[in-house]
Amino acid sequence: MNLILLGPPGAGKGTQAKTLQDRYGIAQISTGDMLRAEVKSGSAIGNEARAIMERGDLVPDAIITAMLALRVQKPDCAGGFILDGFPRTVPQAEALDVMLGEMGLALNHVIELQVDDAALVERIAGRFTCASCGTGYHDRFKPTQQAGVCDVCGSHEFIRRADDKAETVAARLDAYHRQTAPLLPYYQAQGKLHHVDGMADMGSVAKQLAAILDAPASIA
Ligand code: ADP
Ligand code: ADP
Ligand code: ZN
Repeated sequence: MNLILLGPPGAGKGTQAKTLQDRYGIAQISTGDMLRAEVKSGSAIGNEARAIMERGDLVPDAIITAMLALRVQKPDCAGGFILDGFPRTVPQAEALDVMLGEMGLALNHVIELQVDDAALVERIAGRFTCASCGTGYHDRFKPTQQAGVCDVCGSHEFIRRADDKAETVAARLDAYHRQTAPLLPYYQAQGKLHHVDGMADMGSVAKQLAAILDAPASIA
């Protein structure tokens, strides 16, 4: 099963992709995580992407599409994948269709997580992750059980993203509305688009996703 989770920054794509990865045994592909790894390693791609990401703009389509083309050929994608944060522009979506066609693959579903802009600002402001295992948390909506200790691996170190500061969030939301929202009619026209209420709590969103993905028509 090959899926796209679509939605603005902070909508819960990464959170839900992790759940789907475990539930369906399909690989989560986060282009944001891939880019942050490139920035950290100081690669040529990372050096080009760093300033763009810190401004809240989108990295050029050619860079992202080339990165994704290599990623979907990795063995962990053989059973399917969840794209989290890709595509973000119509040219990326078109490149994906070509790429999958050449691989003899297709997209099964595109699911939009719908969340109001005001809620996104709060979600992004409170987001942090474990530096060691990458588990995602939120100051208010998903705190660690014990203050300062990762529930999963016990690490005491956490990361807040450089682009999760208030000044950058407006630019990221603007990029979403201008460049990514046109993907909704694109996938609607392909008959692949579903919507879930992303304002609900994490467990309810997971249930809405399962209802779509476990529907008889989906499994074929
Ligand atoms: P979020 O989880 O908040 O939606 P991501 O981690 O997906 O953010 O992306 C962080 C940043 O990485 C984006 O603001 C953008 O600069 C860059 N980025 C990630 N994916 C893409 C993409 N598909 N196309 C262009 N830029 C991207
Ligand atoms: P995205 O990948 O779409 O940018 P994340 O999955 O990183 O979004 O979620 C953004 C923040 O909001 C995280 O801190 C996460 O713990 C929290 N979060 C995710 N889903 C929900 C939800 N349904 N309700 C409240 N907070 C949520
Ligand atoms: Zn951890």
